[in-house]
Formats: sequence, structure tokens, C-alpha cells
Amino acid sequence: MILDLREFDEFPARKTIEAGPGALKPFADTIISVDGACVSVDIQKAGEEFYCQAEVTVTATGECARCLTQYQAELVGKTNFIICSDTGETRQRALEDNEEYVFFKGTDLRVDITEPVRQTAILSLSLKPLCDEDCRGLCAQCGQNLNERSCDCVKESTDPRWEGLRDLPSE
Ligand SMILES: [Zn+2]
Ligand SMILES: [Zn+2]
Repeated sequence: MILDLREFDEFPARKTIEAGPGALKPFADTIISVDGACVSVDIQKAGEEFYCQAEVTVTATGECARCLTQYQAELVGKTNFIICSDTGETRQRALEDNEEYVFFKGTDLRVDITEPVRQTAILSLSLKPLCDEDCRGLCAQCGQNLNERSCDCVKESTDPRWEGLRDLPSE
């Protein structure tokens, strides 16, 4: 996803970049394919540097951690980064700085912002992605997807070893 800073006559400026399938490679085991990405970037110029605030939306086909079916995931997040020319000096400063940098060569003023977009999508991906927060998952015994229908398996009974504790008076 290329941001071309030569497009703008003045700053601050705003640019929306959209990309289709394949803009990003799947970036997690739970992501089957990336279907599209949209980035809205607010750009402010300060000296020779461009301060960017970006809103990222990545649409992907994910796999639910509970029921293992595929679902449409929308990964939304924000990221800030600084765009500047890659002189040895700026590269060194970036190493010491806590900000994220994206460099262009010489005076080219064009950068690939795919990496910050990818990082934002990864951060917004939960460790346990679900098709729905109320997903009922699969029956541990017969494997039936309980979102589709319930099954006749006996509900898990209490482990008999805990039975004795049940009779203790509660405080
Ligand atoms: Zn599910
Ligand atoms: Zn079952």
C-alpha cells in the first residue's frame, strides 16, 4: 500500500488508501485470507518529517477458535508513524525513538505503509477470535456445531471426586 506524499499541495492532508485481496498475506494461524484493507491517514508536516495518524480496517476470513467455522473478521485499529527520508541520521534517531518510522529514499516521497497496517491488524486480532461472542462451540463428545443445533450428548456431570466437597457448609 503506497502513500505518495507528492500528491499533496499543503498539509495537514488526509488520504484514504484501499487495497483488495492479497494486499496483506495472512498474518496469523487464525486468518485464512485477507480480503481487503482500508487506511485513512491524516498527515501533518513538521520540518522534513511527516507525522501520520492512520485508521486501519482490514477485512479477513478468519477461523473461529470455538466452532472452527469461517467467518468475516473486521480488524480495526489506529496507528501513528513518522515518515522521513532515510539518511543515516534519521535511521539512527528512529532506533532511539519510541515512535514508528517509515522511510523513503532520498527525495522520493513515496512510502510503502503495508507494514504499519499489518502490525495494526495483528494488534487488533484477539488471541481467541470468535465468529460471535456467544459462539457455543463444538460438543466435546460428538463434535456437533452447537450454533447449528444442540445434540443429545449427556451434559458433563460433576467429577465424582468433587462430590464430597459439595456438602460442606458454605460460609
Ligand atoms: Zn464460532
Ligand atoms: Zn454432542
